[in-house]
Amino acid sequence: MTDIVLTLKEVRRLAYDSLLANGCDQANAEATADNITMAERDGYQSHGLFRLPSFVVSLKNGKLNGKAVPKIDTLAPGVIRVNGDNGIAALAQQRSRKALINRAREQGVAIAALTDIFHMAALWPDVEPLAEQGLCAIAMTASRRFVAPAGGSKSLFGTNPLAFAWPRKDAPPMVFDQAVSVMARGEVQIAARDGHVLPEGVGLDSDGNPSTDPQAVLEGVLLPFGGYKGSSIALMIEMLVAGLIGQPFSPEISAASNGDGGPERGGQIIIALDPDRFGDKEGWREHCETFFAEMLSQDGVRLPGDRRHARREAALVEGVRIPESLHRDILELSGA
Ligand code: NDP
Repeated sequence: MTDIVLTLKEVRRLAYDSLLANGCDQANAEATADNITMAERDGYQSHGLFRLPSFVVSLKNGKLNGKAVPKIDTLAPGVIRVNGDNGIAALAQQRSRKALINRAREQGVAIAALTDIFHMAALWPDVEPLAEQGLCAIAMTASRRFVAPAGGSKSLFGTNPLAFAWPRKDAPPMVFDQAVSVMARGEVQIAARDGHVLPEGVGLDSDGNPSTDPQAVLEGVLLPFGGYKGSSIALMIEMLVAGLIGQPFSPEISAASNGDGGPERGGQIIIALDPDRFGDKEGWREHCETFFAEMLSQDGVRLPGDRRHARREAALVEGVRIPESLHRDILELSGA
């Protein structure tokens, strides 16, 4: 497969033009193009331009509201509900950020319950900006039923990503962002597209047998990481992003799907904590830095997010590579 190199400006332009040409208004196109560009910049291709054609399909068939106007309500002093108006999640996330930061600073803790959004993106862009403002942040969402509960061989949970961000003293925030499946489904799709074999333990085929063939796993089921432990985290996420806030559980997301391969309607939780309000205002930064230093003193240990930051540095200088065929397809979508 031949790749081409694009600058990040070109990536954003391509995404913005395609979204605008296919039903998004300026605000929705900008927020989504920013999100896609961040994914390409940090090396998360499975949430970059790769996803654009699926967004366009869902915009064209009317599942996605390209002109969504997110609405923010206060449900309790520490709880804001952000109704995404059936749009792509990026705009609702962007519009709710200021309110979430202000509430967390006022009260120590605040939660944004995002509803009626279509989320098919990486989660670190939802938490990193909060940690850049000195807050600790936790985000999670559900997806279609792709993952078997521990002991089972049929899908029930989504790939349910969980992201955590912690502010650092003189360094970018520490952020981890991980799917509850051994491998994110987007990565399995990319492996199938590129003809790669999967590592052992990623999933089962449709007969319930272990398989390293990405296509067989896409037709079968993914496994949670860490057996029953990952399975319980997937369960917790279902409770928080569906049960708690009146949004669909993963099987309900699948049942409502029109099968167009685009994102699906569901919920997301973003929790923000202000470490200055938990009793160690003067000490927490230094205390945590000492802990990070001890962790990093072991050979072979790195902080989550370091690889992403290294890719970011490289992309800012060298641009990013995308398959030529994907570039052609997107140019066509943008009407260029
Ligand atoms: P990875 O397994 O690639 O990485 C998970 C996390 O672990 C990252 O923060 C990564 O940091 C960190 N990490 C990896 N290796 C090490 C190491 N050796 N030491 C310390 N930390 C390490 O991610 P996933 O495949 O699980 O998820 C990929 C993306 O897919 C995520 O962004 C997720 O949000 C997204 N996703 C979105 C869904 C949706 O419905 N919206 C559904 C499922 C997934 P680093 O990046 O620096 O390597």
